[in-house]
Amino acid sequence: MRNRILITGGAGFLGSHLSERLLAQGHEVICADNLFTGRKQNIAHLLDHPRFEFIRHDVTEPLRVEVDQIYNLACPASPPHYQYNAIKTIKTSVLGAINMLGLAKRTGARIFQASTSEIYGDPEVHPQPESYWGHVNTIGVRSCYDEGKRVAETLFFDYHRQNGVDIRVVRIFNTYGPRMLPDDGRVVSNFIVQALRGENLTIYGDGKQTRSFCFVDDLISGFIKFMETDDFTGPVNLGNPGEFTMLELAEMVIKKVGGRSDIVFKPLPSDDPKQRRPDITLARTRLGWEPQIALSDGLDRTIAYFAQLLDCPSDRLPNPMPQLVRLAA
Ligand code: NAD
Ligand code: UDP
Repeated sequence: MRNRILITGGAGFLGSHLSERLLAQGHEVICADNLFTGRKQNIAHLLDHPRFEFIRHDVTEPLRVEVDQIYNLACPASPPHYQYNAIKTIKTSVLGAINMLGLAKRTGARIFQASTSEIYGDPEVHPQPESYWGHVNTIGVRSCYDEGKRVAETLFFDYHRQNGVDIRVVRIFNTYGPRMLPDDGRVVSNFIVQALRGENLTIYGDGKQTRSFCFVDDLISGFIKFMETDDFTGPVNLGNPGEFTMLELAEMVIKKVGGRSDIVFKPLPSDDPKQRRPDITLARTRLGWEPQIALSDGLDRTIAYFAQLLDCPSDRLPNPMPQLVRLAA
């Protein structure tokens, strides 16, 4: 069945991949984005599509459209971007959730919330299952994002209990791939861009902190499976349970890209979580989902994307050059 689907934050990294995938399935997609961290270039190849529409819109304001499904992705995701205007970040999460839940209530649309592993804060339980309530600083530099997303989860469940809104809440763990911004600030894009430019890779702290990296295509498959599953609100973790230190990641990138790059150590930002790995038992059992793309393969595809974007010489490409599925435009 063809659905009319609203994606807030649809011109961003994840939103542009989701838009593409839903169009390929035959749906109509309305992308609403204020272009803070999203780029028209991410969706330039979709703008002429007869079932695609872009609206420049800020989710802190109400939006009146008629839709069957809503994916609420609007919110900067990279720490430097969400800390740039912390108050705006909270408004985006909280007012954005209220406005989109109001829209879902009026239209009867099923609504999906892009929540985050950050709601677990600096976790004391490892790996993190959905039943863990988290360890979050309410007043630190990351709180605008973490607490904004926590309140958004609360709003989703209150609209569900009080108004019967049909919700889907996913907790996304670190995801990477083509169309991250070169100056995004997140670790995978930072390391790849630095290596391709022959600069030193910046490790914050001692590099022993861990993260689990999911390739974007795997994540988007999980989004759609979840949205199509009845009688399951979540919250559900989506991420790749492979766990790496930032030192391991830097070494992998340097080895793949080659060149002269070394590692330099920079101060650790405050409240930086020491460890992170999803327990994906729930996603496996309820959605039949698990990631298929190993970090090494996903890095090859992402390096190839950035090499083309930055116009790097071919000796800076992973060998053998992987098949590129999609490019930015
Ligand atoms: P992104 O920054 O590329 O995309 C966010 C998009 O939201 C951008 O297009 C931006 O312009 C838009 N936006 C921001 N504020 C807005 C506002 N007030 N009104 C309208 N649009 C606005 O980041 P992403 O990685 O694509 O993340 C998408 C969503 O997934 C975010 O909600 C993020 O919190 C969540 N998430 C992502 C990850 C990840 O690793 N990529 C991890 C956890 C959660
Ligand atoms: N990080 C790093 N060098 C960078 C960027 C990030 O060592 O150039 C570290 C950062 O301190 C954190 C990890 O990499 O420990 C992941 O950072 P990112 O911003 O990608 O995501 P998050 O901290 O939100 O998981």
